[in-house]
Amino acid sequence: MATMTAPVSAPKKIAGGAFLISDAKPNECFFPEDFTDEHKQIAQTTAEFATNEIAPMGDAIEAKDFAVTRRLIREASALGLTSVDIPEEYGGLEMDKVTSAIVADNIAKQGSFSVAFSAHVGIGTLPIIWYGTPAQKKKYLPKLATGEYVGAYALSESTSGSDAMNPRSRAVLSEDGKHYTINGEKMWITNGGFADIYTVFAKCAVPDGDKAGSASGQEKQEKLTAFLIERGTPGFAVGKEEHKLGIRGSSTCPLILTDCKIPVENLLGEVGKGHHIAFNVLNVGRYKLGSAAIGGAREAFGHGIRYAKDRKAFGKSISEFGLIQEKIAECAVGIFAGEAMCYRTVGLIDAALADVSKDDTKEIQKQIENYAVECSISKVWASEMLDMVVDHVVQIFAGYGYVEEYPAERAYRDARINRIFEGTNEINRLIITGWLMKSAMSGKLPLMQAIKTLMDEVMAGPVPKEDRDGPLAEEYDLLASAKKLTLFAAGSATQKYMAAIADEQEVMAAIADMIIQVFVMESCILRAEKISARKSGSGPNKDVAVAMARMYAASGMQIIEASARKVIAAVAEGDTLRVQLTILRRLAKHDPVDTIALGRLVAGHIVRAGKYAV
Ligand SMILES: Cc1cc2nc3c(=O)[nH]c(=O)nc-3n(C[C@H](O)[C@H](O)[C@H](O)COP(=O)(O)OP(=O)(O)OC[C@H]3O[C@@H](n4cnc5c(N)ncnc54)[C@H](O)[C@@H]3O)c2cc1C
Repeated sequence: MATMTAPVSAPKKIAGGAFLISDAKPNECFFPEDFTDEHKQIAQTTAEFATNEIAPMGDAIEAKDFAVTRRLIREASALGLTSVDIPEEYGGLEMDKVTSAIVADNIAKQGSFSVAFSAHVGIGTLPIIWYGTPAQKKKYLPKLATGEYVGAYALSESTSGSDAMNPRSRAVLSEDGKHYTINGEKMWITNGGFADIYTVFAKCAVPDGDKAGSASGQEKQEKLTAFLIERGTPGFAVGKEEHKLGIRGSSTCPLILTDCKIPVENLLGEVGKGHHIAFNVLNVGRYKLGSAAIGGAREAFGHGIRYAKDRKAFGKSISEFGLIQEKIAECAVGIFAGEAMCYRTVGLIDAALADVSKDDTKEIQKQIENYAVECSISKVWASEMLDMVVDHVVQIFAGYGYVEEYPAERAYRDARINRIFEGTNEINRLIITGWLMKSAMSGKLPLMQAIKTLMDEVMAGPVPKEDRDGPLAEEYDLLASAKKLTLFAAGSATQKYMAAIADEQEVMAAIADMIIQVFVMESCILRAEKISARKSGSGPNKDVAVAMARMYAASGMQIIEASARKVIAAVAEGDTLRVQLTILRRLAKHDPVDTIALGRLVAGHIVRAGKYAV
C-alpha cells in the first residue's frame, strides 16, 4: 500500500470536555459519513483481511497457535495495517488517527487476534514512537512495522493493576552507570508469550539534582520508569499462559525479572517519568478500544441478524417477533451511537493535531491528553455497549447461543475483558468526572461559570424552551435538558463536597454516567442531523438515522434522570432535597417518545438489509 496522509474533514478545533457546556454543530463533527476515499479504502482492505485471512484461522488462533497469530500480524503489516502510527522515516505510514481507529474497528472480527494486534500496534509500539531515542526508534520501529518483531507492554503486577504507579519491580543503576538491574514480576501481559520487545515499568531512584527527585536531594525518591527489554535477555523469563474466560487465543503471561541486566541505552524516556508514558499511551489505547468494541459488536450482531432471519418458531422467522425486533433495534442503535461517538472523538483529536508538527511528539501527546475525557468515554461506553450487544445475540441464538459451536458464545466471553483492561471502567468513570472537575478548578474549562449560570437560571424559575423545528427538534430539547441536569447535579455535588468529592466515588460515577450520556446523545443527534442534511440518493437512510438518534436520546435521558436523582438524593436532605427534586423534575420534563414504533422501523430496515446498516 502506498504511503498516504489522509486529510481531516473536522475543521474546527474544540477543547476536550467542551461538549458539556457548549453546543457543537453537525459540521464541526467527524462521523463515518465523512470518511475520505482513503479512509474507505483502508476500511475495506482491513475488513477483507479480517474476513478472508483472520476469520478462517479462528480455530488455530483459539488453540493458541501463536505461529499463526505472528504470521497474520506479518501479513497485516504487508498491507500497512501495523504502520499507521509509525513515522515514515522508520518504515511507517504516519497517517491520521481516524485511520488508526478505522483499522482497530475493522480488524476486530476475531477477538483474540484483535487483542494481540491492538497490543502490538498500540501499547507495544507507541511508547517507542513517542519516547524512543533516535537509536531506539531506528532499531525497533522498522521491525515492529513489518511485524518481524511483536511488541508488548508490561505495567500491571499481581499487587498493582489499577494502582499502576505503585509496582514492586525495581530497577537499579550500576555504579559504573552502564546498565540497570531489574527485579520484579509483571502480570497479565498481552503478547507476553511470544513478543520480541517489551516496554517494562519499574520504580527507579531518581538521580540527585533532578527536579523529579526529592526536594532536599538528601533522600532519593523512587519513581516509575520505563525500559525496553528484548526477549532472550538473561534474567528475563516468561511465565505460563493464563487460562482465561475469553480471548483465549491471545497470549496473557506473567513476566519474571531476576537480576535482569539491560544496558542504559534501553532506558525509555527519562528516569522517573514513566507515568507520562503510561498515561499518554493509555489515552490512545482507550479510543482504539472503543473502536475495536464497535467492530466486535458489528461482527456479533451480523451473526445475530442472519440467525434471526433463518430461525423459525411458531411458523415464522423469529425476526418477525416484536421482542426480537426490539433487541435488533437496540443493537443497531448501540452501534450507530458508538460509531458516532468514537469517530467524533478521533476527529476531534485529528483536528487538534492538524497544526502540530509530526516530529513534536510532546505536543502530540499534550493535544491527545486534552481529550482524555472523550477517550475514557469511548472506552467505557463502547465496552458496555458491546456487552449489551453480545448478550442480545446470545439471547437471539438462545440454546444455540449457549454452545461453543456457534459464534455467539465466544463473542459473549471475548467481550468481557474490555471493561477490565486499559483501566477498568470504574477507574475510567473516576477519570471522566475527576478530569472535568480538575479542568474546571484550573480554569481550563469554564465549567464552574456554566454551573453558576445554570443555578441562577433554575432559581429564577421555568425557562421557555427554544423554538426549534425539524425531525430532531424534540431531541435537541432533550439534549439541552440533559446538559442542564448534568451541570445541576455536578453543581449540587461540588457545593456539598467541594474538593472532597473525589472521595464520594458513587457520586463521581453517577456524574460520569451523565457526562457519558450527554456526549453519546449529542454525537448521535448530530450524526443523524448531518445524514438528514445530505443530498438525497444513495447513502444512509435518513429516516432510519433519525429514528436511531431518537431512540438513543430517549434511553440516554432515562439514565441521566436516574443518575441525577441518585446524586441529589445523596447530597441534599429535607427542604433542600424537595426544592432540588422540583428543579430536577422541571429540567427533566419531556413528552414520552414512542420507542416501540421507532424500534420496529429500525429493525425492519436491518432485517431487510440482512446486516447492520444505516
Ligand atoms: C486478558 C488481560 C490482558 C491484559 N493485558 C495487559 C497488558 O498487556 N499490560 C498490562 O500492563 N496489563 C494488562 N492487563 C492488566 C489489566 O490492565 C488489569 O487487570 C487492570 O488494570 C485491573 O487491575 P487488577 O486486575 O489488578 O484489578 P484491581 O486494581 O485490583 O481492581 C479490582 C477491582 O477494584 C476496582 N478498583 C481498584 N481501584 C479502585 C479505586 N481506586 N476506586 C474504585 N475502584 C477501584 C477495580 O475497578 C476492580 O473492579 C491485562 C489483564 C487481562 C485480564
